[in-house]
Amino acid sequence: MNSSRKRHTCAIPLVLVVALLPGCSSPSAQPAPSSPQQAGAAVNPITVDSTEEQIRQAVGTARVGRKLTPKVWPNGARVAVCLSFDVDNELLQRANPLPVPLSVGEYGATTSMPRILELLDRHQVPATFFIPAMGVMLHPEMVPAIVARHRHEIGVHGWVHEFWPGIGDAAKEQRLLAQSIEYLTKASGKRPVGVRAPSSGFGPQTFDLIRKAGFVYDSSLLAADEPYEIVSNGQPSGVIELPISEVGNDHVYYGETANGSLPSPDAVFAIYKAEFDLALQERTMFILTQHPHVGGRRSRIVQLDRLITYIKSKREVWFATMEEVANYVKQTGS
Ligand SMILES: [Zn+2]
Repeated sequence: MNSSRKRHTCAIPLVLVVALLPGCSSPSAQPAPSSPQQAGAAVNPITVDSTEEQIRQAVGTARVGRKLTPKVWPNGARVAVCLSFDVDNELLQRANPLPVPLSVGEYGATTSMPRILELLDRHQVPATFFIPAMGVMLHPEMVPAIVARHRHEIGVHGWVHEFWPGIGDAAKEQRLLAQSIEYLTKASGKRPVGVRAPSSGFGPQTFDLIRKAGFVYDSSLLAADEPYEIVSNGQPSGVIELPISEVGNDHVYYGETANGSLPSPDAVFAIYKAEFDLALQERTMFILTQHPHVGGRRSRIVQLDRLITYIKSKREVWFATMEEVANYVKQTGS
């Protein structure tokens, strides 16, 4: 239980409070490991007795390499803007799949996704949707609706939104990644080139599997405000990181049911605006991470509408999918 959950009133059934797994792409929201296997027992902690070499090795899996912000973005834009959506829906509730918590996620598919797609249509801007494969199975109408716009991208977000470090078996993790890619390829007609780890669960072998699977980019790490090449164990990997941020994540503010740290859409808008303003000034990149079942609620999507309108008013802005950004920086950075 964290302090935000204590804000629930007694009127909310206890089963709902207990059943709501913490959210998606924020490190602090990782499900609490309940066993050594879930914790990823292969990871050696850094202690006062660790040698310099052991410490270097411990942090070396996926580090910041070359910064890849180009001198100029396409069409002379000063900043690249990526709107990304982690379409988790019911799969955040898989530890306790009871009707009421499931319905919190189901809202994301029944109500938020049409609302979000309509908003993006109205502004004529692209977005990237990271979708767990079994989320596609549960709501087969979502992918055709995204693909029909001919503007958006679909990326990998696990099989059932599983926590990869908890799998503890590289072969099984690789199999889950491969079948997730295959499922999305079949559903969308295009092989995904980007991946975002569910619940920011990046295990010791995860990066190697991502690289071997041929992804152009990852969007799970948080080490910068601009694109960079991932260096793994001292070697440039060729894989681009488009880093995210908890500050740009709706889940941390709103929570599953308005039990987050800052459930005020006006205040959240002010944070996103300030983040964008400095990204524009720094001429780098602004990535927003939204969850349909969270940010697609009425009072919240109004603020997303307001934010897109504000960003568009700056003119020298490149709205792009994450694939477009990754391909562009790959070309300009080489
Ligand atoms: Zn997620």
